[in-house]
Formats: sequence, structure tokens, C-alpha cells
Amino acid sequence: MASAATTKNVYNFNAGPGMLPQPVMKQAQEEFCNYQGTGMSIMEMSHRGPIYSEVHNGAIENIKKLLAVPDNYEVLLLQGGAQGQFAMIPMNFLTPETTADYIQTGTWGKKAANEAQVVGNVNIVADTIKDRPARLPNADELNWSKDAAYVHMTSNETISGIQWHTFPKTQAPLIADMTSDILSRPIAIDTFGAVYASAQKNLGAAGVTVVIMNKDFMASGNKNLPAMFRYSEHAEQGSRYNTPPTYPIYLLYLVTQWALEQGGVAAIEKHNHTKAQVIYDALDASDFYKPTAAKKDRSWMNVTFRLESEELENQFLKEAENQGMVALKGHRSVGGIRASIYNAFPIEGAQALAAFMKDFAAKH
Ligand SMILES: *Cc1c(COP(=O)(O)O)cnc(C)c1O
Repeated sequence: MASAATTKNVYNFNAGPGMLPQPVMKQAQEEFCNYQGTGMSIMEMSHRGPIYSEVHNGAIENIKKLLAVPDNYEVLLLQGGAQGQFAMIPMNFLTPETTADYIQTGTWGKKAANEAQVVGNVNIVADTIKDRPARLPNADELNWSKDAAYVHMTSNETISGIQWHTFPKTQAPLIADMTSDILSRPIAIDTFGAVYASAQKNLGAAGVTVVIMNKDFMASGNKNLPAMFRYSEHAEQGSRYNTPPTYPIYLLYLVTQWALEQGGVAAIEKHNHTKAQVIYDALDASDFYKPTAAKKDRSWMNVTFRLESEELENQFLKEAENQGMVALKGHRSVGGIRASIYNAFPIEGAQALAAFMKDFAAKH
């Protein structure tokens, strides 16, 4: 069934799930029914057998390599998505008697804080959700609590398009939701208690969530929890307490192999910066486009802006789509335009969008 859909070339600006590297999909397709001559799909094998084990441990090793994860950190492959982590973090590290600090910079940060409130006390360190343009708090706006169990933040707010370019220094263990910018740049893992990311933006397909956590911090967690929700249990079982999502982990393995072949996260960061700059330059070239994120906090992963009217935005989306640039519509909660340009997104797509933006502004 060689339909038009399988031969169509588009620039895919989807925010999540986002595009995968072409070579990864090609390899996955080739190996789909017959994994490395075994006569079976990787999906049809025991999750404790030697062939799958290589993939499982390979994905973990690749993440350790890519992010220079120190030995006193655990890399876990879990299920339940980033929002599963919104729940698991307070379950493990918060009690009705203790307080956690949450930096609320957008929709995701707020959702995380809401979940923690179910378990214990939450101090909102800063709240910039309603600020327009979207922005991150300044250092002097952060109201830390005295004995926070941990601090939670969102490194890249996918919906509004703001990103922390330097991280706050905290007394309590810092936990970052890096779902939309993991592997997009080097980070100093040892400055975090934990970082986590569900896979469908920069790591592969939905279904697996990577958690990188300091071992001492993990050991301090609540023991009085069902095993499925204890980080320490998953660590002891090598992320195979129950059947792991073997196919998403296989894709994670391929994506991390690809990332290593790109030259690792330092090389990927350079590429990402170039891509974002091309689009931001087009955005700043005239006042036809209205950026919705504060300049100093602009995300390199999600570029957000508006036009004069919704009508014009719809026209923009339609003409862009006609030229093969799809999924540029902003999140339903904020509207406008959003160009998501994760690691796998090619520079040619950013250049095509910039050229289109220039033409469209001239025409209208
Ligand atoms: C997409 C996204 C989420 C939601 O992830 P799920 O895996 O669907 O739970 C959470 N946080 C951030 C920053 C995101 O971009």
C-alpha cells in the first residue's frame, strides 16, 4: 500500500509526539519483523532474555554516555509518562508533614505542583504562568521555603516556549522535568537530585520515561509504598520490575545511538542553536510577527509567536501546510503559532519556515 501518505515529504513541527530521526525509523522498519536475523520481532521476545537485554542495557548505557551521568546516579526506564512522575516524585519524597518547592512557569509546572498537593505541602516558589510575554522568574522573585524536601522545575515549558538557559542554585535536591529538552544540550547531572523525561519529544516514542536520579536521594524515599511506585524497587530490578515497554525502549536505544553518531549532546546543542536562531531571526526581522516569549527566556525547542489576528494565523497555517510545513498550530490552550524543533528536526526545515515567514509577511 504505497499511498501518498507514505511517500509525502513534510517538515513535521509537531510538539509531541514529535518527529523521529529518519535513519531510526528506517532501521526500525527493516528490523520490525526479524530482529537481527532471529526470525522474531524485538517485541516478541522475553524482556529478560539476552537479545532484549542488550537493547535495554544499551539504552541505559547510551544515556549515561550522552549526559555524562556520574556513578552515584541511577538511570531508570519507567512507564506512566512525565505525568506519572508528577505523582511518583511526591509519593516518594513528600509527606503530609513536609513541604516541596515548585517553580511554576507554565502549564506543565503547574500540573506537577497540583499533583504534589495531593500528597503533602507545596510552596509555589514563583508563579509566572499568567505573565505575557511568557517568562521565567528572576532570582530575586524566588521565595524558597526553609526546609524543602525538594525543588521541582520545568526546564522547558513546551506550550509557552520558554527555557531555562541556566539553572537555579538550590539547597534542597533539584528535580527537573526535562521532557521537552532532554539530550538537546549538555547538563551537569550532579547539580540535580533527579531529572526525568518521557520519550515522545526528544527520545523516541511514547511509552517509556527516563529518570536519572541521585542514589542517596533515591534511598531517602518513602519505603511505605507499593513496589510499583518505589524508585528504589525499579533500581534494584534494573528497570524490569514488571515487563518494561520493550518496543519504546528499543526505539530509545536507536535514538540514543543516533545521538551518539551526531557527535553527542554538545554537537546536537550547536545544531539546535543554529536551527532556533534561523527562526528567531525571521521572527525579529519585522513587527509583523509577535513573539510570545520574553527574549532572554526563549526556548530553542519550541518557538512561539502570534500574528495580528486569528484569521491571519489561520491563513499562515494553511499556506505553510500547502508548502509542506505541518503542525505549526499553537497549543489549544494558548493559540497562535508554535514551531517545535526538537533534536531530530532538520536545519532545512527551519530555513524553509524562515523563508516562508519572510514571504508571508511581505504578502500580507
Ligand atoms: C509533553 C510534556 C509533558 C507530558 O508528558 P506525558 O508523557 O504525556 O505525561 C510533561 N512535561 C513537559 C515539559 C512536556 O513537554
